[in-house]
Amino acid sequence: MDKPAPDYDLVLAGGGLANGLLAWRLRSLRRGLRILLLESEEHIGGNHTWSFHDSDLTPKQRDWIAPLVASRWPRYEVAFPDLARSLDGGYASIASSDFARVIEAALGPALLTRARIESLTPTTVRLADGATIHAGAVIDGRGMRPSSRLSLGYQTFLGQELRLRAPHGLAAPVIMDATVEQQGGYRFVYLLPFGPDRVLVEDTHYVDSASWQPERLRANIAGYAAARGWQVDAVLREEQGSLPIVLAGDFDGFWADLQGQPSSGLRAGLFHPTTGYSLPHAVRLADHVANLHDLSAPSLFAALREEARREWQGQRFFRLLNRMLFLAGRPEQRWRVMQRFYRLPAPLIARFYAGHPWLRDKARLLSGKPPVPVAQALVAACKIHPDQIRKTA
Ligand SMILES: Cc1cc2nc3c(=O)[nH]c(=O)nc-3n(C[C@H](O)[C@H](O)[C@H](O)COP(=O)(O)OP(=O)(O)OC[C@H]3O[C@@H](n4cnc5c(N)ncnc54)[C@H](O)[C@@H]3O)c2cc1C
Repeated sequence: MDKPAPDYDLVLAGGGLANGLLAWRLRSLRRGLRILLLESEEHIGGNHTWSFHDSDLTPKQRDWIAPLVASRWPRYEVAFPDLARSLDGGYASIASSDFARVIEAALGPALLTRARIESLTPTTVRLADGATIHAGAVIDGRGMRPSSRLSLGYQTFLGQELRLRAPHGLAAPVIMDATVEQQGGYRFVYLLPFGPDRVLVEDTHYVDSASWQPERLRANIAGYAAARGWQVDAVLREEQGSLPIVLAGDFDGFWADLQGQPSSGLRAGLFHPTTGYSLPHAVRLADHVANLHDLSAPSLFAALREEARREWQGQRFFRLLNRMLFLAGRPEQRWRVMQRFYRLPAPLIARFYAGHPWLRDKARLLSGKPPVPVAQALVAACKIHPDQIRKTA
């Protein structure tokens, strides 16, 4: 039987960060393409604050995402028990409400919200209302899917945007305040000053399990604000997450499990292995796909897999560091690894976050007096974890 003619050239399943940026980029660069972005919620983008370092992106990439950026700072700070440092370098944040406002307006009829996807294949989407949509290709961007092919630690966090009774006095974002009590993992507080009396306070934990207790994190935030002498007038908004930190994985197995399904974002493993952040990867992916000539499902799958392989190979060193961070030393001593990292030269730190450390940087990161015991660090670096992962590259 003949296949029905596709309704669209490309259907983007899930209106999150990766597919939202991709749809927006295609809309502006490939106007002739018939695309449809599907999202189950009322608006795309969920409830997030997405931040990035300027050095994570090229000037051209920063230009095209500029309409989404709500806040921008010329430098940021970190604080540890024995180190307080201010680093030059742009830091910016996108609020998901702005993401939705700008991209939804640009997409118009190419967006369908409140559309819950029941199932999909590389060329079809079946919605919960029973409708089936046919496409030249479907890109699955519905967020992280559980996989036995990755061995993970987690960055779990809860953030509250607070309005204070008086100015907080912060001059720049504090991306790690690790002077706080450690609670069984690497704990730090992340601060984004959105206005003189408005601040996002995130209580963050690098821990071995994705399970967490929101009430404890809320209490931590209240305790932190009180300790800084901040009186909270109102909690304006709350966001939370549990981001994957990759210790090891089987790339070929992970992609074989996708069975030819083109995928994007966390679902395609496209995120920074040490931070769980994916904005720079999503920006790069949008540019990459917008420049592809052949958007048929098999060709798109091959191109996305190749892009993911390139990223994966470049991330080997980060997975090694993650194993040292998670598997060596006592959990409450993990902050020492990060404190040592933040003593290094600023350009090295920028290349680390951008995911492109030089060979020299890697040697520097691994040399010197280690903050965790040497023997344990070596065992951790070589550990195959867990059993079902065949390759630990
Ligand atoms: C609170 C929070 C803050 C973060 N902050 C940062 C940051 O500062 N910087 C950074 O780079 N990264 C950050 N991240 C990490 C990562 O970049 C985000 O998780 C990012 O949103 C992942 O993008 P994605 O496109 O893969 O998935 P998502 O953005 O999660 O998008 C998935 C979308 O698919 C939709 N969906 C799911 N199932 C269905 C279905 N059956 N039918 C239809 N739609 C469906 C969802 O509603 C959602 O909109 C943060 C994550 C969280 C949770």
